[in-house]
Amino acid sequence: MPIIQNTFQIIYSHVLPTACIVCQTFQGKQICAACLDYLANEQLSNYQCCRQCASLLNHCELTDQQCHECTQNPPYFDATYCLDRYEGRLQKSVHRLKYEGRLFYASGLALAWNTLALPNQKIDLTGYLLPVPLSQIKLCLRGFNQSWEIARKIDCGKCLQKNPHILMRHHHTHNQATETRASRQSMIKDVFFINPLYQKILEGQTIVVFDDVMTTGATLNEIARILKDNGVSRVINWVLLRTLHPKFRSKTSRANHV
Ligand SMILES: [Zn+2]
Ligand SMILES: [Zn+2]
Repeated sequence: MPIIQNTFQIIYSHVLPTACIVCQTFQGKQICAACLDYLANEQLSNYQCCRQCASLLNHCELTDQQCHECTQNPPYFDATYCLDRYEGRLQKSVHRLKYEGRLFYASGLALAWNTLALPNQKIDLTGYLLPVPLSQIKLCLRGFNQSWEIARKIDCGKCLQKNPHILMRHHHTHNQATETRASRQSMIKDVFFINPLYQKILEGQTIVVFDDVMTTGATLNEIARILKDNGVSRVINWVLLRTLHPKFRSKTSRANHV
C-alpha cells in the first residue's frame, strides 16, 4: 500500500504541482526544498533558548538555560519548544492561514514542523496534545481553529493523543494584539476552562499545548495554570512562531548560536 501511495504521490506532484507556501514556486510539496533549507538554517531552535519559555538567552543566562524572567517569575508550564521566530519566513504563511482562511497553508506549516521540529522533539511522550482553543463565537466567525488545523497534521507519536475538545475558551472582545504584557495577563485570567466531560482524565498526565504564535506567553501560562489546577503533572508548549524581545529582532548574536 505505501508503494502505491508513494507512486501516486510522485505522479500527482508532477501532474499537479503545488505552490510553496513560502516562496510560491510551483513544485511537488507544500514547502519547496530550498525554503526548508533556509528554515533549517534560520530556525529558532538553532539558538540557545530558555528551556521554559523559549526566549533567546543572554550570555549570563546560558549556564542555567533559563531566562531571568523565568527565574524570577516561573511560569506554570514546564518547557517550551518554538520552531522559528515570528519575524521569520513563516509569518506570512501563518497570516494567510489565519486571516485569509487558506487552509492549505496548515498542511505546509505542519510539513515544516514535521521536517524541522520533530528531530528536536521527544515524540515518545505519553499524554494529550491540545490546541489553544478559540471561543465558540470566534470559531463560528473564522470557521476553523488555525492551531488545531496545524496540530492535527503534525506527527507526534502514538502515545500522544490529539484532542481539540478538552480545553475550552470563553469569549471576550479585547484584541490581544494591541495589549501590553501586563494587561494581557490580567485580561486572560479565567478565560480558559476544562470541558467537564474530560476533567477526570487529566490527573497526572503530560499535556502538550500547541499554538501558532507565542507573544508574551500570557495565554500559554494561563492555560498551564488551568491544566495544573486540574491535576496535570507536566505542561509542554509546542509553538510554531515566537515573537522575540526587540533587542534580538534585528540580528541574533553569533555568540548565542549553537
Ligand atoms: Zn519555497
Ligand atoms: Zn524563560
